[in-house]
Amino acid sequence: MAKIQNVRGTYDVYGETKRKMKKVVATGSDVVEKYGFEEIETPIFEFTEVFSRNLGETSDVVTKEMYCFQDRGGESLTLRPEGTAGVVRSFVSEGMQQNLPVKLYYAGPMFRYERPQKGRQRQFTQFGCELLGVETPQADVEVIAMAYEFVEKLGLEGNVVVEINSLGDKESRDAYRAKLVEYLRGHLDELSGDSKERLEKNPLRVLDSKEECDKEVVANAPLYCDSLNEASKKFFDEVLHGLDALGIKYRINNRLVRGLDYYSHTVFELVTDKLGAQGTVLAGGRYDGLVEQMGGGAVAGIGWACGVERLSMLLEADVSLPRPVAVIPVGEDTNTKAMEIAYMLRKAGFRVEQSYGGNLKKRMMKANKVNACKAVIVGSDELARNEVTVKDLDSGGQKNVAVEKIIEEIK
Ligand code: ATP
Ligand code: MG
Repeated sequence: MAKIQNVRGTYDVYGETKRKMKKVVATGSDVVEKYGFEEIETPIFEFTEVFSRNLGETSDVVTKEMYCFQDRGGESLTLRPEGTAGVVRSFVSEGMQQNLPVKLYYAGPMFRYERPQKGRQRQFTQFGCELLGVETPQADVEVIAMAYEFVEKLGLEGNVVVEINSLGDKESRDAYRAKLVEYLRGHLDELSGDSKERLEKNPLRVLDSKEECDKEVVANAPLYCDSLNEASKKFFDEVLHGLDALGIKYRINNRLVRGLDYYSHTVFELVTDKLGAQGTVLAGGRYDGLVEQMGGGAVAGIGWACGVERLSMLLEADVSLPRPVAVIPVGEDTNTKAMEIAYMLRKAGFRVEQSYGGNLKKRMMKANKVNACKAVIVGSDELARNEVTVKDLDSGGQKNVAVEKIIEEIK
């Protein structure tokens, strides 16, 4: 019989990897909650249009990467490839516009049919946040600061750089698009087939192409910064000024664009050179038109998402858990009492390992193997005097302690 395997590009996450990913999500949650963000959980699948209409019909995600399926009722559904579209869908369908600003964060699995490689999976985890209803640059500064504080709390600020760019408002983007089309028409022969098509449907997409020949053409393409109108320039300046005021270092990257249709004004990424080709650990930007496009009001939005796997790969040291206490019964008749003591210690907040069998020697070896700091040895003679033996597994010293005093003794 064929061996049962996991699907290519999906992984079982456990042990050190899981601990690190958990730490990334817990750290992110702590940070964004300080900024007033609340967690939201949206469904893992949505109607296909939630993504196809809003991420852009010609984006890589929509054309090549989505897991779409028809359910038994004939509906076209899609496993979410990213978080923003679902959160904004929820913002609109739950009528959250009534109470702006709205600050939401999420963590969970995303699905993209991509070529699996290091840092690129078919099921991966994103942690992200969305700030809705703030049009001013203050919001841009705040969410970038939040992203920065997040990597700082993970001890990774030395490994990542904030890259930032402005795509400007609609007028600026239209002006830019015209210049870009003119430039690309002059290099038509050098473009990939896909990009020739993009040029007709959505020329800005060519900037985000991963094909070598396209990258060469794009390297000399006109820059967004030369097409920004005064209002867009002023907006971007205020964002940069805010970052300066907070002491957040950034690098303006005039070539930075984002692959999805809904971005305007500020776009940014946190990048590292420690993960090879998959160097972007966190990415985001402003998406002022998205809520309206989904049938809500004209509500501004800005947010970011990080790849939890990519960030946890940057964490060097394993996540350390508090050392456990081992509770060890000696002889059959002390099993129940040992169980009671373990239960009491766990309720008092200790991590407790109970060995499940074997003689005293075997169980002591087990205690050392789990790196216990103390052993509570429950023997019948001591128990007759309502005592146990508490052994310090580092020094080897031990003493008899009354059952009521165990917690005090091992604190
Ligand atoms: P890339 O250019 O690497 O394909 P992207 O622009 O598609 O990235 P986003 O949609 O901005 O990525 O997603 C935000 C973050 O999620 C990325 O910066 C990355 O850290 C992570 N991410 C995206 N796709 C994957 C994937 N297939 N596997 C693992 N992490 C991913
Ligand atoms: Mg991608």
